[in-house]
Amino acid sequence: MEAKYVYGFNEGNKDMKSLLGGKGANLAEMTKIGLPVPPGFTISTSACNDYYDNSELIRDEIIKEIENYLKSLEENLNKKLGCSKNPLLLSVRSGAVFSMPGMMDTILNLGLNDSSVLALANATQNERFAYDSYRRFIQMFSDVAMGIPKYKFENVLDDAKESKGYKIDTDLNSEDLKEIVTKYKAIYKKEIKQDFPQEPKDQLMLAIEAVFKSWNNPRAAVYRKLNDIPHNLGTAVNIQSMVFGNMGESSGTGVAFTRNPSTGENKLFGEFLINAQGEDVVAGIRTPQDISSLKNVMPKAYDEFVKITSILENHYKDMQDIEFTIEREQLYILQTRNGKRTTTAAINIAVDLVNDNIIDEKEAIMRIEPKQLDQLLHPSFESKALKNATVIAKGLPASPGAGSGKVYFNAQDVVEAKGRGEEAILVRLETSPEDIEGMVCAQGILTARGGMTSHAAVVARGMGKCCVAGCSQIKVDEYNKEIRSDDFVIKEGEYISLDGSSGCVYIGSVKKTDVALTGSFEKLMNWVDKYKDIIVRSNADNPRDAAMAIKFGAQGIGLCRTEHMFFDEDRIPAVREMILSNTLEQRLVALEKLLPMQREDFVAMFKVMDGKPVNIRLLDPPLHEFLPHDDESINHLAKVMGLQVSEIKRRIIDLDEFNPMLGHRGCRLAITFPEIYEMQAKAIIQGAIEASKEGIKVTPEIMIPLVGEVKELKVIKDMIKETVDNIIAAEGVNIPYTIGTMIEIPRACLSADEIAQEADFFSFGTNDLTQMTFGYSRDDAGKFLGEYVNKELLEKDPFEVLDQKGVGKLVKMGVQLGRSSKPNIKLGICGEHGGEPSSIEFFYNLGLNYVSCSPFRVPIARLAAAQAFIKNPR
Ligand code: PEP
Ligand code: MG
Repeated sequence: MEAKYVYGFNEGNKDMKSLLGGKGANLAEMTKIGLPVPPGFTISTSACNDYYDNSELIRDEIIKEIENYLKSLEENLNKKLGCSKNPLLLSVRSGAVFSMPGMMDTILNLGLNDSSVLALANATQNERFAYDSYRRFIQMFSDVAMGIPKYKFENVLDDAKESKGYKIDTDLNSEDLKEIVTKYKAIYKKEIKQDFPQEPKDQLMLAIEAVFKSWNNPRAAVYRKLNDIPHNLGTAVNIQSMVFGNMGESSGTGVAFTRNPSTGENKLFGEFLINAQGEDVVAGIRTPQDISSLKNVMPKAYDEFVKITSILENHYKDMQDIEFTIEREQLYILQTRNGKRTTTAAINIAVDLVNDNIIDEKEAIMRIEPKQLDQLLHPSFESKALKNATVIAKGLPASPGAGSGKVYFNAQDVVEAKGRGEEAILVRLETSPEDIEGMVCAQGILTARGGMTSHAAVVARGMGKCCVAGCSQIKVDEYNKEIRSDDFVIKEGEYISLDGSSGCVYIGSVKKTDVALTGSFEKLMNWVDKYKDIIVRSNADNPRDAAMAIKFGAQGIGLCRTEHMFFDEDRIPAVREMILSNTLEQRLVALEKLLPMQREDFVAMFKVMDGKPVNIRLLDPPLHEFLPHDDESINHLAKVMGLQVSEIKRRIIDLDEFNPMLGHRGCRLAITFPEIYEMQAKAIIQGAIEASKEGIKVTPEIMIPLVGEVKELKVIKDMIKETVDNIIAAEGVNIPYTIGTMIEIPRACLSADEIAQEADFFSFGTNDLTQMTFGYSRDDAGKFLGEYVNKELLEKDPFEVLDQKGVGKLVKMGVQLGRSSKPNIKLGICGEHGGEPSSIEFFYNLGLNYVSCSPFRVPIARLAAAQAFIKNPR
């Protein structure tokens, strides 16, 4: 059978997204279920890939197929492309598998030329409409297919309006529009050095090629990268017969979501414009009306639209984002897709759909992207601080959340500000796909123009960025880089704060608060816990973080890094004294000072964790990390300790290492200075006894870092065990404790069977394991890893996403060998990967008992764990 590259809307369905793209598959589906979709056809993603495989050429075979489909469309509608009597006009729209801002979007009214415009005027008895369509077509074609900047056309339009004293586009009459068309064609000729193409088939092929090319433009490539969309999918092209929203007062066009995409409220949410074409709504040039008022303007079309929105939502079992056009009271649906939404909305909608028996709990869990939860876990403005803050303007609450930062007026400046470590707010007249990177880097986005479905609003919601859009009370002067109103001027680099939930803009930086996770979120997370089959613990080094972890649902502490306790202001002198000691006796004196402080640390941790397991890791970093290195601090330390400056300097030099990460750290410290771990073990067990005397159940897990050889573990473990057992015996209490090890050195994975014999548990330290498996320094890899990922030498930064092929293989080996000699050994992971969804799935599939991650990632880890179970139940 010959390859097929083109599909009529009546040949596909919603499950053919990879071939027809999202838009094409849904147009076919809507056609199939009998909704009013203007007829057309889809050029498949395989045609796009074929184009790239053939040195960016559309092969004759494919052109022929397109022509055949065009012919049937013409026959079907009894119209002809470019015909001077009854012309067929087309829309050409890109449609990738995943919706992708940054690509060419739409060309409308294709097929118009100097003669078909007359025919259109004649056929509709509406000359104004015909020339309005023609000027739109020239501008869109020139902009999206030929790359002529839009503003060149907009200037002409603005001048025309200004010279006639008009306020809005619809004030322009047909004579005005004719003049504008002439001027537009002149711009085209000047820019392209050719006449505006009059042959509609040329227009069509150029437009199709422009869509193919847009797949690879830099903005689209950035978007794919940010969203993990493979670069080789290609885009489809949808060719559809035009319907017109700009045929006068009984026509219009709009966009609506079946539920509120910010909150999830089950109420139609959208906007429309009378006498307009699609891009007018999105571009924010005219202010659209709320969808509810369509009821008053065109009740019949409105009722039908409402009916269709519920058909679509029930059919897709999800909130839909629908584009429609009304041509002389007749409703047409131009697109439907699962609507982008904030995390709050995503959760509320998923939970509501379960309550309404439309989807089940598992489906609801699968619908929330774990990383998205981040949005909820970030603070909002403190209500007290908000009361005292000065509102300088109010715009549309386009995407909820709170953000403060210095204002910058273009994306590049925001990116650079972020690079300098600043918090930045991107302020624009309106955003476009070119601004994507700046939006990613910004704390929030403020635009002067555009509605709730404008680019800024839609994209910010998808990113979970707070956004205030359409803030018309302010003047955004992108050229002079300032925001102005009658009362104030805010210049580049000055602070503002945005509340994306209320639309308020504040001067200065406003204090934020923690989040409260209640309602649907709680319900969803209860379902999550029902399905997840791996324990989620948290890394926490102090009671405050531990309490936060519990609030987020942590089931224990997977890693308490004790060194962080040593940096406290009241500890560091004793720590330094211990390090600077010349003899064992001196060191023991210093350790004796640290002991009660460490004990109090652990008592506090046990109390907060209230019976949940607490894994405490003994000192890990090299000792020189605790010493000062600048002269001022060294002099100060010498004074406080009554030592010579030279002596401290000598000790610093003694401790200096070429490669501290591979040097005297972790358990190696305890081989040379066993008294340090001895003190820590005492503090842990005395703390446990103290807490248990207060009625708290305590289950300490004592963890030894950086073991690579079983004998290291055995020596240290025996010493700790003796210390701990002596205390327990002397106190006559029963404290169940375990001693285990980090597995973070490749050799530990390779000899995990031996190590398991001396360990009650393993906790995989995938940070160090990644460092040592790749041989990339954790501290220096930032210099080159970005390039590695950009050049696709590595798919992802392996310190962020577990490298399953290499590092993962070592973890797997460690698990298998460990269990081979101790089947019930407890296995966990506490590296950064413990909070990363794809890595969590990997650890779940390996059968680990728990993952541990930072408190803010605990909900993400819980959700990812539940999804891993749903995908691979056991
Ligand atoms: C690890 O190496 O993965 C780990 C958790 O320890 P740290 O990050 O403290 O070295
Ligand atoms: Mg480590």
